[in-house]
Amino acid sequence: MALLVQKYGGTSMGSVERIEHVAGKVALARERGHQIVVVVSAMSGETDRLIKLAKSMQARPNPRELDQMIATGEQISTALLAMALDKRGIQARSYLGSQVAIRTDQAYNKARIRSIDSERLLADCAAGIVPVVAGFQGVDDDGNITTLGRGGSDTTGVALAAALKADECQIYTDVDGVYTTDPRVEPRARRLDRITFEEMLELASLGSKVLQIRSVEFAGKYKVPLRVLSTFTDGPGTLITLEDNISMEEPLISGIAFARDEAQLTVAGVPDRPGIAAAILGPIGDANVEVDMIVQNVGADGTTDFTFTVNRSEHERAVEIANKVAQELKAKGVRSALDIVKVSLVGVGMRSHAGIAAKMFKTLAAEGINIKMISTSEIKISVVIEDKYLELAVRALHNAFELSESKGG
Ligand code: ADP
Ligand code: ASP
Ligand code: MG
Repeated sequence: MALLVQKYGGTSMGSVERIEHVAGKVALARERGHQIVVVVSAMSGETDRLIKLAKSMQARPNPRELDQMIATGEQISTALLAMALDKRGIQARSYLGSQVAIRTDQAYNKARIRSIDSERLLADCAAGIVPVVAGFQGVDDDGNITTLGRGGSDTTGVALAAALKADECQIYTDVDGVYTTDPRVEPRARRLDRITFEEMLELASLGSKVLQIRSVEFAGKYKVPLRVLSTFTDGPGTLITLEDNISMEEPLISGIAFARDEAQLTVAGVPDRPGIAAAILGPIGDANVEVDMIVQNVGADGTTDFTFTVNRSEHERAVEIANKVAQELKAKGVRSALDIVKVSLVGVGMRSHAGIAAKMFKTLAAEGINIKMISTSEIKISVVIEDKYLELAVRALHNAFELSESKGG
């Protein structure tokens, strides 16, 4: 008998029929003798709808009020699933984050989990009751509702699995595992049986939304066995493992990630002198805007163009701040671009192989795709390109690095 945390995402909870299907899966796992704790997302589209509604009231809603509102999607889906289980004669109880005491810090809209009281859930399990916990939400020390960032139910699932010392955290979604790239963009993408935490962390942080990045961080830190599976088809899914368990034949590249939600800013014609990077990025960081890639170029006239990327949702705020800084520095001005995407190759095999970057750049050049920015680490290479080339770039790279089932085919 194992204790399993099963997390079901938005599509899996998308209708009454689908929730009944989820109840059937929970029932089956129980028949097999397992204890199950369920974490659910809001029904698909619901969180988007709530955010839109909030923004129709106020362009930049107060973060506390936004969380108060967008946490409601999960309240509905927990109750619906508890009802579906009850209908099948399975005792179940729905819980909000605050009722299980998923305590977080006070960073509304991107709160971090600090602690979870596992007692109530363990007592339910011992009594044969299935707890159905709302993903994505928590409560701060003052009783305010917080949310964990988009896709945050994955993190709730992993955090609960860690707190309960579960045997596995199963992330049930609308794909049957982690693929070499998003199968919606490259239908020839291949499912991976296993991937290391390190690579999954890189893929997630570079835009693969199949798992929220914090869930992977959490799973790595607390060594929670984590598996991505389909709600709709049976199969082994993808196991996220420690590197030690992977065979010597680790492929060079494990996957391609992309992020559509980046924005590029350039502070142009900045006098080239020490302290410029700090003068520009200091105020951006102070405003809690995360900076991703950075490029600085000194032109023939001795001034610098300082270019960086931020999340698109923070673009306006970043431009406001950059404009202010540009004036102070007597720079020529601020340009920004939203029609960009970041495409990244990820693989621990890169460490021991030279020439990956050159091959990547050659492949993109052969398709006539211009590279605007580049950044590398030990296990990834990222480029920023024009968004209209996203699909072409992903497919060309997928083919060049022979990631499909039929090698290169
Ligand atoms: P859920 O609502 O279940 O949390 P998400 O939409 O958050 O589901 O995540 C699943 C989606 O992630 C898939 O439908 C797929 O389009 C996308 N995705 C992106 N990159 C990958 C990848 N490398 N492997 C599998 N799916 C991916
Ligand atoms: N419902 C939340 C979202 O749409 C959390 C999740 O689905 O994981 O972001
Ligand atoms: Mg998700």
